[in-house]
Amino acid sequence: MIQVGVNGYGTIGKRVADAVAAQPDMEVVGVAKTSPNYEAETAVRRGYDLYAAIPERASAFADAGIDVAGELADLVDAVDVVVDCTPSGIGAENRELYEAHDTPAVFQGGEDADVGVSFNARSNFEEVKDADYVRVVSCNTTGLSRIIAPLEEEYGVEKVRATLIRRGGDPGETSRGPINDVIPDPVEIPSHHGPDVTEIFPDVDIDTQALKAPTTLMHTHSLNVTLEAEPETETVRDLIAGQDRVFTIPETADIDGAGALKQYALDLGRSRGDLWENCVWAESISMEGADLYLFQNIHQESDVVPENVDAIRAILTDESAAESTAKTDEAMGVGLESLFADGGREQLTADD
Ligand code: NAD
Repeated sequence: MIQVGVNGYGTIGKRVADAVAAQPDMEVVGVAKTSPNYEAETAVRRGYDLYAAIPERASAFADAGIDVAGELADLVDAVDVVVDCTPSGIGAENRELYEAHDTPAVFQGGEDADVGVSFNARSNFEEVKDADYVRVVSCNTTGLSRIIAPLEEEYGVEKVRATLIRRGGDPGETSRGPINDVIPDPVEIPSHHGPDVTEIFPDVDIDTQALKAPTTLMHTHSLNVTLEAEPETETVRDLIAGQDRVFTIPETADIDGAGALKQYALDLGRSRGDLWENCVWAESISMEGADLYLFQNIHQESDVVPENVDAIRAILTDESAAESTAKTDEAMGVGLESLFADGGREQLTADD
């Protein structure tokens, strides 16, 4: 069993811990928290041993009536790999500790690219083999990579142009905004997202621009990819629908936005209403000459979670991308396929 520690138990960390715990070949040794808040309490309820991320604050847990199993250094010492899910910039500071304990680590997309080798399971799994420090790229870069990879392989990509309408903050981030505006953010064009994609696809020509909108649910991408071929719309739809971590939303489902998507996930009984897949509107996938257009939604809180699990296997095992992603998806239940005839590979039968 691969022994895993999770440092930082917030939006991403709590999901990564659950995803790791669900794997047949992994075990969560513990999670490190800075303070005994509601997330620390739920970690205990879920059976995870708690470690004090900041030693000087360890007594706060005891004062709150919660036992800790040790300090962060003890956790780092006890595991085969740490998944660092601390806020942007703190992961890079933690790298020294991981190095001192000779413990490999998986970082998140909020860190600068030089913290480790950038990773997306669909696109460059093999490239991080033997790396000790890997960075799962951001939610937006993950969402873009999953679409670019098959297009690049199948047709070649001449140019990607993407407009990212980003959620203002996650549901629990009450201090973020905007509340009543749509803001170019960053106002400079191109935004930093394009360069991040080239950490995964060094040869892809991509420009991105980004805005922030008053929603907490999901990001929306408007994508234009100029291909090096002119396939039919239906052929490209089939290619995209065939990707394991992409859900093509069928017209019949009557899902018009993030609200309905989240309801769908909750109705399906998904933990926290998570949507680990890119959600691409099937009718939006359109070819005009060599230009592909589509709209997709990205659940920022969860699309990187299966990628973290695969990053662990990429670093520590000999498994291939196909073996690892299949195992991850099976254990987590990743892979939405609509029963509607226009939306999935399975047809609706009379018994359904
Ligand atoms: P978060 O604020 O929800 O969670 C971070 C957790 O780390 C919190 O529980 C916080 O208390 C804790 N923490 C703070 N300082 C710490 C320290 N020194 N040591 C240990 N823990 C500490 O943040 P998040 O949204 O989960 O983001 C974590 C990382 O994932 C960032 O790099 C972020 O850019 C990236 N990411 C976030 C999203 C998203 O939309 N939320 C999506 C993809 C990637």
